[in-house]
Amino acid sequence: MTSSRTVGVIGAGPAGLTAAYDLARQGVQVEVFEAGAKVGGMAGSFPLWGQMVDYGPHRFFSTDDRVNRVWREVIGDEYDMVDRLTRIYYRRTFFDYPLKALNALKGLGLVEAFRCVGSYGWQRLFPDKDESTFEGWVSNRFGKRLFSIFFKSYSEKLWGISCRDLDADFAAQRIKRFSLSEAIKTALLGARTVRHKTLVDQFAYPVGGSGDLYDTMARRLRDAGGRLHLSTPVRRVTFDADGRPRIELPSGEVRPFDHVISSMPLTALVAGLNPPAEVAACAARLRYRNTILAYLEIEGTGLFPDQWIYVHSPDLRTGRITNFRNWVPSLCGKSPNSIVCLEYWCNDDDALWSTADGDIAALARREMAATGLTGGAPILNAHIVRVGKSYPVYGHGYRQNLAPVEAFLSGFPRLHAIGRYGAFKYNNQDHSILMGVLAAENIMAATEGAAPRHDLWLVNTDTDYQEAARVTDTGLEKTTG
Ligand SMILES: Cc1cc2nc3c(=O)[nH]c(=O)nc-3n(C[C@H](O)[C@H](O)[C@H](O)COP(=O)(O)OP(=O)(O)OC[C@H]3O[C@@H](n4cnc5c(N)ncnc54)[C@H](O)[C@@H]3O)c2cc1C
Repeated sequence: MTSSRTVGVIGAGPAGLTAAYDLARQGVQVEVFEAGAKVGGMAGSFPLWGQMVDYGPHRFFSTDDRVNRVWREVIGDEYDMVDRLTRIYYRRTFFDYPLKALNALKGLGLVEAFRCVGSYGWQRLFPDKDESTFEGWVSNRFGKRLFSIFFKSYSEKLWGISCRDLDADFAAQRIKRFSLSEAIKTALLGARTVRHKTLVDQFAYPVGGSGDLYDTMARRLRDAGGRLHLSTPVRRVTFDADGRPRIELPSGEVRPFDHVISSMPLTALVAGLNPPAEVAACAARLRYRNTILAYLEIEGTGLFPDQWIYVHSPDLRTGRITNFRNWVPSLCGKSPNSIVCLEYWCNDDDALWSTADGDIAALARREMAATGLTGGAPILNAHIVRVGKSYPVYGHGYRQNLAPVEAFLSGFPRLHAIGRYGAFKYNNQDHSILMGVLAAENIMAATEGAAPRHDLWLVNTDTDYQEAARVTDTGLEKTTG
């Protein structure tokens, strides 16, 4: 009955691929167009120096049953549980991440700890009136001094703008309902008596790397009759006189579908639709940030125990260092060495984005040595990867620009924009997978003549971030026996 329905999907990252997988298994004719040579998007994996690596750290975690159903169904038993350790590195000292009050204050030393608590007390008496900015939101919960140590430098490295120009949405999404007083309460009373436990102690991770999930999904999609075109970028989406969407390829070939799901950058999708001038202007004000990943192969193992470290030290340009040796042993093959990945964030017009690979590799080698984390072990190799538009920038007031774009796209009921850059949402994999599931449900409803069941623009806007739940809530643990 549904096999006469056709759906074109743009992008084979977590969002697009999940939607395609779900639809194909329900008998819909699905065709996926992926610009890259492989699936998984930013959550893919690739081989390097005899090991497997991801594009920076990729911990999967969700408390949503629909997301976990997809994950478990696809990965089966091919995963391991990882004991999570992630810390903050600040001026040669390590701090727990997520922050723990006593640990943070102890690491800062007595004098600085008193200053921080004093600054927090002052902030409680005289709070920032504007909580719509990242700085105001965090300062009111932690005080200015802790804000400047633990939030300011990292956030400004990541986003490339002052924390006063960063929207509070970013904070509310990641550190909801957490404050210094609650952190102290947690420390003193123990985790059991306080509801918002911030540390997810374990996470499930595919034995072949984050991208294993998407490689398997792609195989199942094909088995279910779906078609997947790699190295096939979509130029734009157009509509015929009856409002049916068409996918236009760079060759000029035009492919009609009943529905199109797009996870290509929202700004590019909108530009191709010839929007009214005011919508075009709003879309043009939506900014993305790029990531440069510098992979280093370092002789030996045991460099540091964390899966990744947040680098808050303002004197280092890198913002995060991943150690792939500490994920699952199956990633490392027979290699006796460690692969670490240093992340650098920049805009299209920053000098770093156009700096030669060799110079970025030299910077990464210097900074890695400067952390002291190599213990003097030789750095054997370097490899640079650039990921464009990796972060939608929640600049202060960005919603005012996003809202007209959403309203414009809502006028095309057969076009469904999903995904991280696809819907301009600061998604993790789970949010993008959920968007894929819900887009598929909306299309299935449409094939039965029903109204859409879900407003996709609302996914990942409720700010109920899952850092605050325990892994035992996910249903992802391996059962014994
Ligand atoms: C450094 C880093 C660390 C991260 N860490 C984590 C983490 O720990 N946990 C977590 O869950 N998530 C993490 N993420 C986020 C995660 O990678 C994304 O949430 C997820 O990949 C988003 O999936 P998506 O399908 O929305 O977008 P993408 O993964 O970006 O996929 C979009 C796909 O569309 C394709 N495409 C783009 N334009 C076109 C076009 N015109 N035509 C055809 N195809 C096109 C792209 O090639 C890409 O394959 C991290 C991301 C980064 C960059």
